[in-house]
Amino acid sequence: MGTVRGVVCAFTAAMAFMFASGSHAAQDAGAKDDPLTKPIALEYADAFGEPGAPRLVHGATWALGSPMLSVTVIDSGEGLLLIDAGLAQWAPQIATELAMIGHDIRDLRYILSSEPHYDHASGIAALVRASGAQVVASAAGAAVLRAGHSERNDPQLGELFAYPPVASVRTIADGETIVLGDLVVTAHATPGHTPGSMSWSWRSCAGPQGAPNCETIVAAASLTSRTDGTYRFSAPANAAALSAFREGLARLAELDCDRVIAGHPAHAQASGATGAEPCRRLGRYYAKALDAQLAAESGQESGVN
Ligand SMILES: [Zn+2]
Repeated sequence: MGTVRGVVCAFTAAMAFMFASGSHAAQDAGAKDDPLTKPIALEYADAFGEPGAPRLVHGATWALGSPMLSVTVIDSGEGLLLIDAGLAQWAPQIATELAMIGHDIRDLRYILSSEPHYDHASGIAALVRASGAQVVASAAGAAVLRAGHSERNDPQLGELFAYPPVASVRTIADGETIVLGDLVVTAHATPGHTPGSMSWSWRSCAGPQGAPNCETIVAAASLTSRTDGTYRFSAPANAAALSAFREGLARLAELDCDRVIAGHPAHAQASGATGAEPCRRLGRYYAKALDAQLAAESGQESGVN
């Protein structure tokens, strides 16, 4: 792919994105009047950043998101698979970035969702409209995507934004796979941050066919134990959710994992998961944060802070 072709394709992709919206208003006024790309959570814009140019991660895996929020695309050779979509207003830019690596948005076959919070999922509806891609999520994640908002079983409910719902979501369970050409992506249930949080792994190969350099990449859901101040992980009613959270963190730590892509890249940096044993380090980092959250909750109960 040459630079010139990339630029031309990027322009074509932006046009295709608008036409695919099927709305004259969207074509005339651009994304701001389009309900599916209407900017969301602008007060957190600095915390989420802006998507830059596509960065090659390894083999045919690319990072399209910002340094603060991951959007990952894998080129299977028989279509593209996206993991998370980022913010609703990013959708046209994601289409442009796909063009920069030589693909039309309509090459997108699957969008896998790691969690149904607005920062990772509010762009899914717009990307589906432009591509016809199949969305895949856990059963609990799919319920939120279809509604466009969470319920009280989400620890962050009180501070979340609603977003454009996703009409059709295929559900997947722990250990099941999505196959696209030679690409096999395995789902790993890692609930806790949301009831349906899901992490994903695949084998990536680069280099010559005779001597390929292969590794297992894990796209880990963001597994912080942040709450809206009302939800309590230590509440008896949430005991099952808490034990599922711990099991998911243990599962993440034990994964076959040469490289991790964290939902928020800063978590990989803070946990040392950019080096050896990345998933183990990331799992322990989130487990420590959960312990701290539980300690804070018990301090509140006893009046000690
Ligand atoms: Zn979240």
